[in-house]
Amino acid sequence: MPTYDLIVIGAGPGGYVCAIRAAQLGLKVACVEGRETLGGTCLNVGCIPSKALLHASHLLHETHENFEKMGLMGAKPKVDWEKMQGYKAETVGGNTKGIEFLFKKNKIDWLKGWASIEAPGKVKVGDTVHETKNIVIASGSEPASLKGVEVDNAAGIVVDSTGALSLPKIPKSMVVIGAGVIGLELGSVYARLGAEVTVVEYLDAITPGMDGEVQKQFQRILAKQGLKFVLGAAVQEVEVEKGKAEVKYKLRKDDSEHEIKAECVLVATGRRPYVTGLGLDKVGVALTDRGFVQIDKHWQTSMPGIYAIGDAVPGPMLAHKAEDEGMAVAEVIAGKHGHVNYDVIPGVIYTTPEVASVGLTEEAAKANGRKIKVGKFPFMGNARAKALFQAEGFVKMIADADTDRVLGCHIIGPNAGEMIHEVCVAMEFGASAQDIALTCHAHPTCSEAVREAALACGDGAIHA
Ligand code: FAD
Repeated sequence: MPTYDLIVIGAGPGGYVCAIRAAQLGLKVACVEGRETLGGTCLNVGCIPSKALLHASHLLHETHENFEKMGLMGAKPKVDWEKMQGYKAETVGGNTKGIEFLFKKNKIDWLKGWASIEAPGKVKVGDTVHETKNIVIASGSEPASLKGVEVDNAAGIVVDSTGALSLPKIPKSMVVIGAGVIGLELGSVYARLGAEVTVVEYLDAITPGMDGEVQKQFQRILAKQGLKFVLGAAVQEVEVEKGKAEVKYKLRKDDSEHEIKAECVLVATGRRPYVTGLGLDKVGVALTDRGFVQIDKHWQTSMPGIYAIGDAVPGPMLAHKAEDEGMAVAEVIAGKHGHVNYDVIPGVIYTTPEVASVGLTEEAAKANGRKIKVGKFPFMGNARAKALFQAEGFVKMIADADTDRVLGCHIIGPNAGEMIHEVCVAMEFGASAQDIALTCHAHPTCSEAVREAALACGDGAIHA
């Protein structure tokens, strides 16, 4: 008899959530993690440390920009970088320890070390081969590299997101290569802490895939906060000399060559699946042409009994998507019906203001030939957002032109990342825009703007 019903490889949000749900469903579970602490990319070098730095730098920015406007006078705080790093580390530590506690509570064995799959049902960690009925690969992702650019996180000059979370000092100038979520969040952090930040992006718009109006307004707001943008620029190479970096790029429109010097360069050109050392080719687990683990509708790989979830498989590389897949695959393995609704996975950028979206964009709906109506409401008409000095954004709701069913929502505004969930719940329940419009929303809240956007899908918003 195998020792385990399930061995999960990787203790990120996909893997640890899968292990806990499987244990709750009565399975004997182990989770292998090669890192010193549990929680994966998300807790150790991703979502959580970046949000700690975003929070601290947001508050600093508020003291400099808005405190006096509210009659809060006095000396402005200075940054103690070491202490801020300590706050970040404590936030991370508290959370990784929390998962250790949950593993103990749910009687999950943490197998410490790097795993390889010897054969279906056999997972090797160190010199020991553990037997199991099922395996879930939740090995996550790593920063993608860029041709001509060598990352050295220890030196702190050309870094990826992991290095950018722990720079030895706050640089005076920074070039961020890539205007995606990670680049803009971390770029915002350093801009607020005083760095001159230039974002260089290959495409002609920031945050690819987002609603076009949101992209434009978001860029405008970030530019007002001091971030500079060079769009349509292909980075050729980064040279490091005497402790400074020079980023060489060509503008795509005319092939003209340019360069920018900076104390620090953050390479944020995306992430790629991490399956190194798992021995997948040996056991015959197929990969897609982009290197993700290939899965079917039930997260099973090309080998029966071996499943895969999270950043290692195709789909949005988001912690909550990994968690949902973790829960669902645990249910499937336990003989139940696991389900993930890929049409309702919110995406959030935790800048100030926040940007959040779910479902179809106007562009995607039109490209699919779908008849839609768009309800838009500016935060200028929302008293609470004005009091917060964050009234520059808007809520944009997309509903089906015939049935009024909500198909998507895009928000740029205060606490957008919290507000988006009312739309997610509405979409899960197949609600119409009118359902949201008829729901009483407390005043004064920023969420009233969501209701107003829903009203704008019908007879019209009240405060616009
Ligand atoms: P991971 O979290 O990558 O975990 C995989 C784990 O598997 C790792 O700990 C790794 O050590 C381990 N592992 C790999 N191979 C083996 C092996 N052979 N043996 C043992 N262990 C192994 N997402 C959000 O939703 N919201 C955010 O705000 C957000 N912010 C981010 C900020 C940054 C800077 C970064 C880099 C990412 C951010 N993400 C965010 C993305 C998020 O971190 C990932 O989508 C998420 O961590 C994926 O979870 P996962 O479980 O698939 O993999």
